[in-house]
This record gives sequence, structure tokens and C-alpha cells, in this order.
Amino acid sequence: MPGTFTCRHCGATVSRNPRLKKSQKYCSAPSCQQARKNAWGRKEYRTNKTHRKKRLESQKACYAKRPGHAYQATYRESHPEYDRRNCELQRKRNKSRSKDGGSMIVNTDALSLQATIDGAYALIPVTKGEKIVNTDALVVQLRAMTGAQGFSPL
Ligand SMILES: [Zn+2]
Repeated sequence: MPGTFTCRHCGATVSRNPRLKKSQKYCSAPSCQQARKNAWGRKEYRTNKTHRKKRLESQKACYAKRPGHAYQATYRESHPEYDRRNCELQRKRNKSRSKDGGSMIVNTDALSLQATIDGAYALIPVTKGEKIVNTDALVVQLRAMTGAQGFSPL
């Protein structure tokens, strides 16, 4: 029918709004209007450089005002039950881990001062500026001493 159209979002066939000059693609339902606005926003972000720049600046300002870790802290303050339960569960996990003789250290990059694994290790020369990818690698510097610099025990 000429006076009706099919909504792009909900698929319902509804009568046209006579006040709109352009062809109508979304009905007046709040969810369909939100879908229309979202589609417009996505299109503007893709095609309009100024719009995209302003939106990114706005996001950046928002994140600077309230960074992610601040959100977590605020959430914990406003949800004490969550915080208490999480503490309780972590205590249980720590307890079961200590029973197994496991380490309480969570950071896997932490360097233990005590040798934990006996064995033979390979030393490879590292040139200046070269990056070591293996995070478990222990980097030591050996310096050859000769002549007057020779070895003298303490
Ligand atoms: Zn609709």
C-alpha cells in the first residue's frame, strides 16, 4: 500500500507519518527509534571525520575523568556483599593453594631469589639492544677480567 511501510527494525507494516518528507524506514516504537539513532551514529562515525574526532575526544575525556580501575573501586564500595564474598572466596583459594604446597605468588614474572629448579642452564650471548622474548629468562651480565682487574676474593 502507498500509505504504509515496513519498519527496518521490527518488520511491522505501519502507516506513514505524513509530516516526514523523506521516506520513513523506522516506526515510532521506542526500540525502533533507538535502532534508527544507533544506525545513524554508526554511519556518521564511519563517514564523518569531524563527528568521529569529536566522539573520540569525548571518550578520551570520559576515560581520563573516570579510568577503569576507578570503576572497579567504586563498584566494590557500592556493592559490599560482592566485595565480602570475593574476599571470602580468595581466602579459600589461598588456603587450598597453601595446602598443596603451591606458591602464593600470583605474578608469574616475579623473580624468586632462591633457585627453585636445579639443573643445567644455557648461556647465550645477547647483543646490545636485542630484546629477550622469553619472560622467564634470567638475564645476567658476565664481564671478563684480566690483568690488574683479575679476580680477588673478598
Ligand atoms: Zn519498528
